[in-house]
Amino acid sequence: MNLPQLTAHDLLDVFKSGKASPKEAYEDVLRRIKAVDPKVKAYVRPAKNQPDFKGGFQIPIALKDNLCTKQEEITCASRILKGFISPYDAGVVEKVKKSGGAVLGFANQDEFAFGSSCETSCYGPTFNPWDLQCVPGGSSGGSAAAVAADEAVWALGSDTGGSIRQPASFCGIVGLKPTYGRVSRYGLIAFASSLDQIGPLTKDVRDCALLLNIIAGYDERDSTCVNEPVPDYTKALVNDVRGLKIGVPKEAFAEGLDAQVRVSLEAAIDLLKKLGAVVTQVHLPHTPYAVATYYIVATAEASSNLARFDGVRYGLRVQPARARKNALVDMYEETRSKGFGAEAKRRIMLGTYALSSGYYDAYYLRGQKVRTLIKNDLDEAFKVCDVVLTPTSPTVAFKVGEKMSDPLSMYLSDIYTIPANLAGIPAISVPCGFSKGGLPIGMQLMGKAFDEEMLLRVSYTYEQNTEWHTRKPNL
Ligand code: GLN
Repeated sequence: MNLPQLTAHDLLDVFKSGKASPKEAYEDVLRRIKAVDPKVKAYVRPAKNQPDFKGGFQIPIALKDNLCTKQEEITCASRILKGFISPYDAGVVEKVKKSGGAVLGFANQDEFAFGSSCETSCYGPTFNPWDLQCVPGGSSGGSAAAVAADEAVWALGSDTGGSIRQPASFCGIVGLKPTYGRVSRYGLIAFASSLDQIGPLTKDVRDCALLLNIIAGYDERDSTCVNEPVPDYTKALVNDVRGLKIGVPKEAFAEGLDAQVRVSLEAAIDLLKKLGAVVTQVHLPHTPYAVATYYIVATAEASSNLARFDGVRYGLRVQPARARKNALVDMYEETRSKGFGAEAKRRIMLGTYALSSGYYDAYYLRGQKVRTLIKNDLDEAFKVCDVVLTPTSPTVAFKVGEKMSDPLSMYLSDIYTIPANLAGIPAISVPCGFSKGGLPIGMQLMGKAFDEEMLLRVSYTYEQNTEWHTRKPNL
């Protein structure tokens, strides 16, 4: 039996039947990592602490390198955090461990989750299992590639502007960004606190519901975490979309969309219609401003969150070769210049500028106002539909190096995913086809706040009537 290939729910059946033990599954996945990770480079570090296999789900899992895990080095793929050993578990890591989860290791990402390609990591890029010359997407590219390459049964990532959904789409798997406040951010090393959410990257929609069951729920250590009951998400897995209303924004199918992505999405819409869903057009007039708004709000919050990395408390400390003016300030400067990569520095400068006195009203405050307009558009849309459907990304995975010298074109890769973060609503990416070159294409569904169940129901129905999720890359 090829255990690493299985979904978590199939693996649970195998454990129950006694055909293989959780320890065997874990060891088989480790062997798989040994065999293919030299090519894929999904992981930056194996877990130092081995799981104890004391019952529960015991599913081998990969964690993004920004989820604090007790007594493990966690670096956000940044030089500035090298050597930082987390003294505690993040809220989600605690829950994963409590469920029996077996942590395999820490997955590569863009530095501090700044990026859409997994190339800004201080460890070098991860490669797309479907085509090793292409990026896996980002920033949770390591988590997505690990799942797609069967180097993990499932994984956790974080999503600030698309970082779970876009890599899920590029790697042909399922990725969900939950509603803001549904999952605790305690112990997630912050990028943009008003946008960040942790979520599952899985091989199918059932696994997505199972992993969401594990991580969702109140945590008093995150003041934005909502104290609302958590449903059993597997109950939403019904193969039926009859009468459900699917809103398709015409803005999403405007120019800039790759022709093959368009064809796959149109076919997906037709299939959902055949299955009984009602497709209606919705209008999101402010979405053209989403990317600009996001890069004001996200960089402003990032520049503030990154101020804590100064060489005093965490990770790297670099002393200047020669004393200059003030020993402490010199050390700050030296540590931050050597510790942060180019994209992190770019974001700190953009964000600090947007927050500086005299510009705050013109940029950050204005950005927050446009954010409200974008949210209002979506609220209006949800008055006439149950989910909003768009592509996850305007293109399939691009070549390694292709967009690194052009940050703006990299930023545009999140044009469809960013609105859900700005509005705080849940959104999922599910595989919906392949390009002629054999690269996966993803469909995004956005839902009303705290209506993850509707997203799971529609994606489950779609998945049960297609075979995209069963394909495997040839490694
Ligand atoms: N690609 C977007 C960015 O660079 C989103 C990243 C994310 O969701 N963490 O900011």
